[in-house]
Amino acid sequence: MFIIFGTRGVNKMIKHGDFMCPQCATTKKFRHLQVRRFFTLFFIPLIPLGTAGEYVECMSCKGTFVPRVLDYKPSLGENQFQSQYEKAMRHSMILMMLADGIIDAQELVMVRSIINKFGHNDISADELSDLVEEVQLKKEPVGKYLSVIAPSLNEHGKELIIKCGLTVAASDGHVDQSELKMIDEMASAMEMSKSHLKGITSEFFEGKEQLLKA
Ligand SMILES: [Zn+2]
Repeated sequence: MFIIFGTRGVNKMIKHGDFMCPQCATTKKFRHLQVRRFFTLFFIPLIPLGTAGEYVECMSCKGTFVPRVLDYKPSLGENQFQSQYEKAMRHSMILMMLADGIIDAQELVMVRSIINKFGHNDISADELSDLVEEVQLKKEPVGKYLSVIAPSLNEHGKELIIKCGLTVAASDGHVDQSELKMIDEMASAMEMSKSHLKGITSEFFEGKEQLLKA
């Protein structure tokens, strides 16, 4: 007779409750699961071999996220997430435009179209120039608002913000060192790995991605 043995991951629920699902963009039920490896005999888990990781699963869309997604207060709700997101987008795109010290007309158009494309409240050209003045006066670091929304963003959401930043940087025809440095700061505020960022930027410069059609 054959003896069939192996290992298997077994999920154990650590906790459950409500959270702000980044994918559903609203409050949903979640399960926080821990994966434990077991030694199995005839497919029956017998001996625990330790933990293999943890994740949070949305009960609604079945999306899975790193446990830190729970740090985002569910009490903030959808509207607050949206307004924090908008704030982070506006602030980081304007700083990106200011990075090389020159406010270019094309950059202004690009920043406004990105803000209006990904936000829920459109702004006029006048409102944008007021915002630019405000950002120039306050001198807050580019990561200030990005780090607030980062725990609620999945990889795709973070990539999107980086690509928007690169689009603004490139809209005057070239991307300089000050702009690349700011992209780095944005990525580290969102706790993205160096290799992840490198992948996004090289893809961008190869022209494979066209975020906003001219
Ligand atoms: Zn969901």
